[in-house]
Amino acid sequence: MNDPVNTGDWRDVSASDHVSVLPEVIPPAFRELIEYSKGSDALLRQIMYSPLEERVTDGELCDPLGEARYLVTPWLVHQYQNRVLLLATGRCIGYCRYCFRRSFTSRSEGFITPEEIEFLCDWLARHPDVQEILVSGGDPLSGTYDELVHLLSSIRRARSDILIRLCTRAPVFAPQLFTTALMDFLCSLKPLWLIPHINHPDELGLAQRSCLEQFINRGIPVQSQSVLLSGVNDDAHVLANLFHTLVCIGVKPGYLFQCDMAPGTSHFRLPLDRALSLYKELSSLLSGLSLPVFAVDLPGGGGKFPLSSVTRTARVVVENGQTQLCAEGPDGKVYTYSP
Ligand code: SF4
Repeated sequence: MNDPVNTGDWRDVSASDHVSVLPEVIPPAFRELIEYSKGSDALLRQIMYSPLEERVTDGELCDPLGEARYLVTPWLVHQYQNRVLLLATGRCIGYCRYCFRRSFTSRSEGFITPEEIEFLCDWLARHPDVQEILVSGGDPLSGTYDELVHLLSSIRRARSDILIRLCTRAPVFAPQLFTTALMDFLCSLKPLWLIPHINHPDELGLAQRSCLEQFINRGIPVQSQSVLLSGVNDDAHVLANLFHTLVCIGVKPGYLFQCDMAPGTSHFRLPLDRALSLYKELSSLLSGLSLPVFAVDLPGGGGKFPLSSVTRTARVVVENGQTQLCAEGPDGKVYTYSP
């Protein structure tokens, strides 16, 4: 693990300085989804500015994930031993009002420079224990084709073995970006996974579905991530519909995240007890294949914590020197595992 270096950037600014600065941008493909769904509140609420964003509540942080503790540079975060996060840009194709990195996305416009890419590649070559790179931002797909090609091909040249995880909202916001040329290029980068951010079944129009299918058909695995959002998808049947539809397309639902403590986002956050009971209901509606892991990023840099495990009561007891697990089954009864 690297020695954390806090370089003093957007993460140091107080939370109250970061409200209402996120641009309001509705990408054309998302506007079409809104029109097709006859003004679905679930879509509008995600993308339209609300005065509620002016309200900063206790505990909200500019850097809710505590990434500052793990910086190699302001755009390279090395929190977990075997993987590293690259913030390739602060720019996005559209701006999600609940964005946990909204303090960054509202301030940083440019794409990672050739000099920074050179530094990155050198760093990756010197850290062979890093097996995965998450290319995120902002949205890396907001870069130009040439910027994206230069970045990703440089990473691949520096490390032929590293797994690239491309984290993006583009399959929903701008599916037209995935042209044949871009898909051919992405295929040449394997091992590569697409990690699209999708929150609601109304985000899966024809263009979005065929975009995701392109990846599946070309042998690029796809694992989605979603954020649990009040007034958007805080309904077990809506989420069940989303995750089942994704699985039918060939996409594995990866994570459902509890909304982070970013400034001005309290109107999106579900109380934890409600979130847990909603996930418990969701678990009863879906198979293990369709059910994502429910997780929260612990504030201050504690990393991902799977909340899935706390939706059922369980305890570990020691009896006659033997360790046993007593856990509640889906029927509410307690079962004992005593190996
Ligand atoms: S696309 Fe991602 S980084 Fe950009 S605003 Fe939405 S959640 Fe934030």
